[in-house]
Amino acid sequence: MITLGDKQFEKYLSATDVQHAVNGVAVRIGDDFKDKNPVFLVVLNGAFFFAADLIKRFTYPCELSFIKVASYEGLHSSGDISTVMGAEPSLKGRHVIVVEDIVDSGNTIEAIIEILNQEQVASYAIASLFYKPEAYLKSFPLDYVGMEIEDRFIVGYGLDYNGLGRNLKDIYILKAQQMTNLVLFGPPGAGKGTQAALIKDRYELVHISTGDVFRYNMKNNTELGQAAKAYMDRGDLVPDSLTIDMLRAEVEKNPQAKGFIFDGFPRTEAQAAALDELLESMNSSVSGCVALEVDTEILVERLLERGKTSGRADDQDESKIRNRFDEYNEKTAVLKDYYRKQDKFHAVDGVGSIDEITARLTAVIDQL
Ligand code: AMP
Repeated sequence: MITLGDKQFEKYLSATDVQHAVNGVAVRIGDDFKDKNPVFLVVLNGAFFFAADLIKRFTYPCELSFIKVASYEGLHSSGDISTVMGAEPSLKGRHVIVVEDIVDSGNTIEAIIEILNQEQVASYAIASLFYKPEAYLKSFPLDYVGMEIEDRFIVGYGLDYNGLGRNLKDIYILKAQQMTNLVLFGPPGAGKGTQAALIKDRYELVHISTGDVFRYNMKNNTELGQAAKAYMDRGDLVPDSLTIDMLRAEVEKNPQAKGFIFDGFPRTEAQAAALDELLESMNSSVSGCVALEVDTEILVERLLERGKTSGRADDQDESKIRNRFDEYNEKTAVLKDYYRKQDKFHAVDGVGSIDEITARLTAVIDQL
């Protein structure tokens, strides 16, 4: 995998595949144009490698000219074509072979054909190393195509992404957008909620706190809120079936998400398995489990302090708080091993200033 600017690309075609495609085009053009003294009209910038390799293999008389038109900005064809540099000398009465690196929408080819018609050429043919049939919107026939490819953004061998990647010998394809799904793990009071709020903005993720969703439902006295209340007030875990259904519904509310921060979920092995299954159904997975580690006695103090203002029944007295730790140690702590086995567990020291802890977390997340 390689990085160009802000995007990641993975290998798509080897330099050898590319050379085979160039050869195929060269042989066919040789057969058709050996006695026509054609002009190869190279479309800059992307076609310069292809043109160099192609024309070296054309062993008959020929001439060379260049043209530059602009249509791509970033990843998308803008559809607006402007001529930056015209062909010289005049192409009038000549047999012209347009040399393109890639034809996708066909906008560039259309603009060039218009220029050739104005120039009153004797004939023209289009040679393109790559062709994306799914993206092609025009009806001009392409006479020589090195290789048909799927409608994905490629770089290398003259093709660029924002100016980068032209010098690559192989062809690379833009990596499909991967979701980043973080399990933010740790005992009650470890600071998961505080950190999740900061991290979600930085990585543009959707933050799902199961505790917050339950509290919202309790406040609004929904069926789910009523079912969860007794468990929550005691500091017990809400049964898996309720929690998993609720989590699934929250994820499904965000079909366009770049990823999620799961805060307070999973808390049991059954929930962890359900999460894997849910993400798999979305062609995704847990990217990593990041655990905030804080000593229990510090946590009890933090929660009692929070209880003075949070209004949360489960923060109010020490026995309920200790019960939440028992639940954590009995049912949730085992998940460290669950994620360790998948090589996804990362422990982070949860004691320090908010900024310090955010920095520790982002250092881990950036490596995922
Ligand atoms: P929290 O805000 O994460 O500390 O969660 C508060 C309470 O909500 C917990 O003590 C549980 O009663 C309930 N809860 C939150 N998440 C879960 C979960 N994943 N599974 C079961 N109960 C949960």
